[in-house]
Amino acid sequence: MSNPGKEYDVVIIGGGPAGLSAGIYAARARLSSLLLEKEIIGGQVVNAEVVENYPGFAEGISGYDLTQLMHQQATKFGLETLTAEVTGIELNRKQKIIKTNKGDFVAKTTIIANGSERQKLGVPGEQEFIGRGVSYCATCDAAFFTDQPIAVVGGGNAAVYEALQLSKYASRVIVIHRRQELRATRIIQERAFAEPKIEFLWNTVVEAIEGEDVVKKLRLRNVITGGKSVLDIAGIFVSIGFKPNTDCFKGVLPLDAGGYIITNEKMETEIPGIFAAGDIRSNSIRQVIAAAGDGATAAIYAERFISQQ
Ligand SMILES: Cc1cc2nc3c(=O)[nH]c(=O)nc-3n(C[C@H](O)[C@H](O)[C@H](O)COP(=O)(O)OP(=O)(O)OC[C@H]3O[C@@H](n4cnc5c(N)ncnc54)[C@H](O)[C@@H]3O)c2cc1C
Repeated sequence: MSNPGKEYDVVIIGGGPAGLSAGIYAARARLSSLLLEKEIIGGQVVNAEVVENYPGFAEGISGYDLTQLMHQQATKFGLETLTAEVTGIELNRKQKIIKTNKGDFVAKTTIIANGSERQKLGVPGEQEFIGRGVSYCATCDAAFFTDQPIAVVGGGNAAVYEALQLSKYASRVIVIHRRQELRATRIIQERAFAEPKIEFLWNTVVEAIEGEDVVKKLRLRNVITGGKSVLDIAGIFVSIGFKPNTDCFKGVLPLDAGGYIITNEKMETEIPGIFAAGDIRSNSIRQVIAAAGDGATAAIYAERFISQQ
């Protein structure tokens, strides 16, 4: 059982792939380790029906199953897990005080792995069809839309990259952007304009996503004319940005302009004994394999940090 009175070697914040991998390495290194997760174990990838790009699963595996296996593995080595929401960190000499809605926990080191969230459109149908036509990751899901028409929402570099990537699979890619021109860098725009499968709907927003078992159509509105239309589609990729879950670390840790935690290659932050791993890290590629690697790296350097103290 987790114990607020005890000083843990490592407290891990977040139970996604980064936190769970950190848990496997920390617990297996015989560090007393506690993982704090505010919702369900697994992180964002539990929404992925199939993960096809994590090594070792040739037929793919659901995001839920993959992360439950990670959790079992970490628990087997002694990782403790508690459902609790972290609200902040305080530094007290060499100790880190992790503040949560279930009380304070004390640690010699902390691994922050509480991820980032895709910005949502916030329209009817979006939440309901996640994993059934609504996606936030072309790298993850493009192949599911082979020879089908799909839409991409957004106008920045990420959206246009995703459109280019999707054009290798889909029959048509319709980029829906609320402005008259893209924000993506010129060279990426040129590549997208030269790709015959990519079309653009300018000055347009999605008002609703509709379907039955899976997405079938989008309800659209032109923001200049107010005109409404319906687009038949097999999938929609929302690429309007990310939001890192770093609000509770503001003022404690240095963040980059986008609010992500800055680390070195050892996953060390500027504060000795505080590490960050996974999607929450500045310049993360936001994939399970990278999050897992970051978590392992952070735990190994946390162990070295403790042994040097
Ligand atoms: C629908 C979908 C499909 C995807 N498919 C793939 C795929 O096929 N392949 C792939 O490689 N990647 C995929 N990804 C991306 C992948 O999910 C992420 O890169 C990965 O989950 C990042 O892991 P993480 O541990 O850094 O963060 P997360 O997975 O975001 O985990 C962070 C955890 O921290 C918890 N948390 C947040 N704030 C707090 C707090 N204050 N206190 C306590 N806990 C907190 C969250 O509840 C969450 O469980 C997909 C993402 C989505 C959304």
